[in-house]
Amino acid sequence: MPAYREPVLAIERVSRTYPGGVTALDDVSLRVHAGELLAIVGPSGSGKSTLLNIMGTLDLPTSGHVRVAGHEVTALSDRRLSALRGRWLGFVFQQFHLAPGLDAVENVATGLLYAGVRRRDRRCRAVEALARVGLAHRVDHLPHQLSGGERQRVAIARALVNDPALVLADEPTGALDTATGEAVLALLTELNAEGTTIALITHDRDIAARTPRQVEIRDGRVVADTASGPGRRSGGDPATSGERSGR
Ligand code: ADP
Repeated sequence: MPAYREPVLAIERVSRTYPGGVTALDDVSLRVHAGELLAIVGPSGSGKSTLLNIMGTLDLPTSGHVRVAGHEVTALSDRRLSALRGRWLGFVFQQFHLAPGLDAVENVATGLLYAGVRRRDRRCRAVEALARVGLAHRVDHLPHQLSGGERQRVAIARALVNDPALVLADEPTGALDTATGEAVLALLTELNAEGTTIALITHDRDIAARTPRQVEIRDGRVVADTASGPGRRSGGDPATSGERSGR
């Protein structure tokens, strides 16, 4: 794993105004360090999707700066931007977004298509990623042969396969029943404990409370951030996750 002195993601004084004059983000700054698991939480319309798109380099801010793994995003051409996205970022979506005609291993291998990895190695690494999410026994299954929770695991494996600096998970439990959602959250927590940096976007405070750091967004502004300082790392056993010692 490359060691970064600087954050894996730095959003500096970002604003995003949509045509028509809606200010979806207003002077937002956010730093994510390697090893963190954080939730960005806010009600509908607060600006979460806009922030996610900017964190994921799918959209550019109207003003301010975004750095991913040390690269200033706003200065890059579209081609270099997608290369940067493919190399450093992994995405997990509420609705999984798996290709229906591809089996699990092929779906995961698509996460390596632009990484310059040879076909045979792609398959090998995809199988390994599926094993990490507990799906070694489902590699040949098509999405419609998998449960919702298994589909989301495939999507998580696809996000992990290129060893990204940051995984962005947009309401990853939103399409799942409670028990399955719990299992997916537990998996994300476990992957974080193994070193994967994860930002989770959710409207659900209960889900956010399960992560070591919560960033609350409202009306396009960060109104709370439980990170105590810029160098804070997580991945240990957060006091919010249940048992407290010394009681
Ligand atoms: P959330 O994901 O928290 O629901 P969004 O980022 O989608 O919030 O939206 C933030 C604000 O920006 C809302 O007022 C929304 O109506 C507005 N908005 C989002 N996308 C667009 C767009 N493409 N054009 C104009 N306004 C938008």
